[in-house]
Amino acid sequence: MMDHQLIERTQGFLRIALPMMAKNRVPITPRNYAVWYQYVSGDNAALRETVDAILKASEPFTEEINDMLYRKYCLETNEGAVKKLREDLKKMLTAVLGELALMTGKAEKYNVVLNDSVEKLSEDLSADTIRRILDEIIGETRAIKGHNLEIQRKLQETTAELENMQREFERTKLEASMDYLTGVANRKAFNETLAQLARDAVSEDKPLSLLMLDIDCFKAFNDAHGHLVGDEVLKFVAKIIKDHVRGRDCIARYGGEEFVVLLPFTPLGGAKILAENIRLYFEQARLQTADKAKALGRITLSIGVAGYRPGEALVDFVARADKALYQAKSAGRNRVVLDT
Ligand code: GH3
Ligand code: MG
Ligand code: MG
Repeated sequence: MMDHQLIERTQGFLRIALPMMAKNRVPITPRNYAVWYQYVSGDNAALRETVDAILKASEPFTEEINDMLYRKYCLETNEGAVKKLREDLKKMLTAVLGELALMTGKAEKYNVVLNDSVEKLSEDLSADTIRRILDEIIGETRAIKGHNLEIQRKLQETTAELENMQREFERTKLEASMDYLTGVANRKAFNETLAQLARDAVSEDKPLSLLMLDIDCFKAFNDAHGHLVGDEVLKFVAKIIKDHVRGRDCIARYGGEEFVVLLPFTPLGGAKILAENIRLYFEQARLQTADKAKALGRITLSIGVAGYRPGEALVDFVARADKALYQAKSAGRNRVVLDT
């Protein structure tokens, strides 16, 4: 998209997003702005659906909800996240600068500065670049006759907001390998670790085992207790798995309610014992809400276990664990099945 089109599009969205945010009492922060910008742009169908549902139910946009929307839909922990935040940051800066142009009525002059800034932003988004661009804009603003204090104030706010976003950007880079909900590795990081550990297993001639764990009938649990309680249970499951394994083992969230654990230096027999321990823990545990106000009953896990065959394709290794998991499900759930 050409720059002036990008700016027009951005300003169009801004003009729709900001009043909507104000109407729904959503604080105008960079994070919330990124959410509502995306909502208005219509690029993210899942986000659109969720926000529409909240609007339809006339539920308030609490801090938790706003945070959830941002984390779930804007800060996706996949490869695109860093790129997307970079884009958001760019859009944010463009939008704020565009606002300034409207406020000062010096659109012509600003457009030149804006085009130039957007160009620079596509290449580099370091804190220094942002500051340099803002300095430039501030300089331009000062030159405007009438020296508008309101503009100065707004620029200061903008600088602070952009610095926040910059920090967020840096953190996202770190978080790109993490599952946003449970804090364990995400699927991408799992695939990388799997490749490394499989290489090690071959070169060191050591066993490598894989557990694939899936919560039983979790849809029904969500239906009974709500998605937010379900999310807490997912965090809890991740924590319990972590408590059962060693530091060198890699736990990842493989899908919605599915986890995987890679166990280097562990033969199939050892992996089976570990899987059985985890399964037994959940069979015996009774869950309750954090405030202990409500009993949630129990959840159970089905677990598939496979051992790496040196030289085998990684997809085949994962598929064997998956097949064992499937067998555990068909055999009645709440059980461990070994791929043999
Ligand atoms: P099965 O025993 O065959 O595994 O049944 P299931 O209901 O667990 O499996 P199914 O694949 O039918 O549904 C998975 C459900 O997991 C759907 C959804 O309700 C829930 N789920 C997936 N991801 C999340 C999440 O991030 N948070 C919450 N709360 N629930 C999730
Ligand atoms: Mg399940
Ligand atoms: Mg599943």
